[in-house]
Amino acid sequence: MQSHIDLDEDRADLEATTFNFLKEFRSAGRGYWSNVSDADWNDWRWQLKNRIVSLEQLQRLLPTLTPEEHAGTMLANTKLAMAITPYFFNLIDASDENCPIRRQVIPRVEETHTANWEMADPCGEDSHSPVPGLVHRYPDRVLFLVTDRCAAYCRYCTRSRLVSNATGYDFHPEFDRQIEYIQQHPEIRDVLLSGGDPLLFSDDKLETLLQRLRAIPHLEFLRIGTRIPIFLPQRITPALCAMLKKYHPLFISIHSNHPRELTTEVREALGRLADAGIPLGNQSVLLRHVNDDATIMRAHLQKLLMCRVKPYYLYQCDLITGSAHLRASVRKGLEIMNSLRGHTTGYAVPQYVIDAPGGGGKVPINPEYILSHNKDRVVIRNFEGKVFEYPEAADGTPQISKPLEMEEPELV
Ligand code: SF4
Repeated sequence: MQSHIDLDEDRADLEATTFNFLKEFRSAGRGYWSNVSDADWNDWRWQLKNRIVSLEQLQRLLPTLTPEEHAGTMLANTKLAMAITPYFFNLIDASDENCPIRRQVIPRVEETHTANWEMADPCGEDSHSPVPGLVHRYPDRVLFLVTDRCAAYCRYCTRSRLVSNATGYDFHPEFDRQIEYIQQHPEIRDVLLSGGDPLLFSDDKLETLLQRLRAIPHLEFLRIGTRIPIFLPQRITPALCAMLKKYHPLFISIHSNHPRELTTEVREALGRLADAGIPLGNQSVLLRHVNDDATIMRAHLQKLLMCRVKPYYLYQCDLITGSAHLRASVRKGLEIMNSLRGHTTGYAVPQYVIDAPGGGGKVPINPEYILSHNKDRVVIRNFEGKVFEYPEAADGTPQISKPLEMEEPELV
């Protein structure tokens, strides 16, 4: 019989093997599209044109489709459309019903259920929208929605009320009104372009928008939120990078959730953006049976750094309608954060946040490192659980005893 020590060693060996495997960069390969020419395969427009968008295509390409996925795909066009690029589809492990890539992009019937607390607009964006397509929730920055289209659709998307237009939201951004609002609000110094995915625009269309924003004197900083480098790395062409680098300071936030998404193609695409001087951050969503595991999360974060991307936020999954089957618990999130801080490079550790339901904004969620705190001292614990004391300093201007009142010197 194996002892506890042997079992622990076996588990540690298995974890180390999984970890090392997840950290390797591989190509997504051609898979089902082995007859396609290099020119077509590497052309982002070909990838978009050949996306998997129907149940018939899915059944042909994925014979292991489950009844839940079959029913979910049939209903997707009334909730959030399905679209998967051939490149990304090749990352799916057809033999694994719980494949973490599959769970993110193939609809499931559970999406049609509404759990307690779930909402169509969990972050209250519509109620913070002074003009269509602009969300002004924080004092000095705005979210500028440019389109309702994405290269592929994430089944937990916070904006599923509008992206893909499956619910008939009929999103029509009005760039003139959005830009005019920003011009009239000098307190806005930062604009985040998002959607939908701004990198789906042609280079010219995106450049026109960036030019108009750069012409606003009080704008200090532009950002683009995109999942294109992950779903469609072919879009990150040298011409796109050369155009983007004219609009610095420009940051890009990508969205990746699992180490298997970081292929050699993605690493090269991100390298091109980084070479154009664009600081890159990543936003992940904590998803059940996708990345709610400390080993997977650590491999993902370390791999992001190898792609020159700083892990920025880890989001608790928003309370979007039909996402309960993908939502991991906050307890799990805290456990994972606890396994990261001190155990890996600080640069690899994202900020775990909950976007407060109804429009409260991002609230940082951290494991407890302060054990007690009074006017004399703070008691803290480190990543190993060791306890330390730190003396408290006086806040503000130090109290200086009142100077003695001097008598006027007598004149002689
Ligand atoms: S890429 Fe972003 S906007 Fe598009 S479906 Fe995914 S989460 Fe939603």
